[in-house]
Amino acid sequence: MKIETLPKEFEDARNVLETIESAGYQAYFVGGCVRDLLLKRNLHDIDIATSAYPEEIKKIFPKTVDTGIKHGTVTVLQDKNSYEITTFRTESGYQDYRRPDKVTFVRQLSDDLKRRDFTINALALDIHGQIIDLFNGINDLNQHVIRAVGNPNERFNEDALRMMRAVRFSSQLGFDIENETFLAIKNYAYLLNKISIERIRDEFLKLMQGRYAQKGLTQMIQTELARYCPGFDGHLIDMSTIASLIKNKKMNEIEIWTMVAYHFGFSEQDTNHFLREWKVSNKEIKLTECALKVVYAQQNYQITGDLLLNLNKESIIAGVHVAQISGFHYWSLDKWLLNYNDLPIHNKNELDITGTDIIQKLNIEPGPKIGKILDKTVGAVINKKVKNNFDLLLSYIKEHILNDLVD
Ligand code: ATP
Ligand code: MG
Repeated sequence: MKIETLPKEFEDARNVLETIESAGYQAYFVGGCVRDLLLKRNLHDIDIATSAYPEEIKKIFPKTVDTGIKHGTVTVLQDKNSYEITTFRTESGYQDYRRPDKVTFVRQLSDDLKRRDFTINALALDIHGQIIDLFNGINDLNQHVIRAVGNPNERFNEDALRMMRAVRFSSQLGFDIENETFLAIKNYAYLLNKISIERIRDEFLKLMQGRYAQKGLTQMIQTELARYCPGFDGHLIDMSTIASLIKNKKMNEIEIWTMVAYHFGFSEQDTNHFLREWKVSNKEIKLTECALKVVYAQQNYQITGDLLLNLNKESIIAGVHVAQISGFHYWSLDKWLLNYNDLPIHNKNELDITGTDIIQKLNIEPGPKIGKILDKTVGAVINKKVKNNFDLLLSYIKEHILNDLVD
């Protein structure tokens, strides 16, 4: 198969390939960019594979960066663009079910294509627009099939992350997983235990953001990969519910986690524990916990000043969106934001009076009582019983709060 006119991204990179070839080596576009070119999808990076060794590439180009020299990758900088150029290589070992123990540079393109995960990812394109397709990848692209290169059992044993990649590509492309490849995933799903949670998380989030997320998530459940992800086992029915709701819905990361937490019936504490297991950052955990509160408030028709006070815009937007995807409406997003923006203060620190002020001006001993006074003062301000002004707050505390406090 020959491509007559290449898109601009490839044309821009053409002279990188020409330079390598005129130095006496081979060079090809490979992997995802060739797949996406044939599928007419947007390209996000152009990968080049070559028979030249990294040191040889560095001699040919004036500006290079050693991106992953051990694995054969050098980045070439040219005309404001950068290209990752990786030496043809084979891999062996894989004792940890993920990284190869040994990478060997080779001079044959065919050896390099053989180590790639799926036939649709094992295509190469030469400078003349000729596609090199040693594993019937074009046929699988046309049939919308994800099929392992070689023996799927061996391939997933070498690198268990490939199983998550299979369901992720299924979600992004809407492809089916070929039967033997599917069965091999089912056989070896348990090997996911060997993979770092960060890698699984990246694939899971990409899956949930895929255009065909409903399909990808269903495959993740059916292959049993879901059972080997932290906190998912025991919630497979909830996951099917999620799959049934997310067709054509675009979610960001906070929304994805909120969707999961809500449909798993998680409390704030459960969510915290769950997201820690997934090694989600503290900032994102906080945002998800807040978004979950919004979902529950929408569901229970209960929105109070106290609830709003502890929120933030990002979580409100996420929570309202997740509630909408899950099929219930109460307040519109506009109404949430209007009420949120209308709060005189958005957290305790914005109060015009501090604990020290209260101790000094009202002659109260430091201790837990101060915290209680501050909380009540915040409550009074957001419920608009008093303005957030130092003198007014001081009188309000004297008149309304101190008397009510029980020691
Ligand atoms: P995208 O960048 O859109 O996520 P991609 O196919 O380009 O998809 P990358 O992770 O960028 O995926 O990898 C580039 C290429 O490297 C793949 O197309 C595939 O040929 C090969 N590859 C990546 N990861 C693996 C793996 N775990 N096992 C075998 N080959 C892999
Ligand atoms: Mg890529």
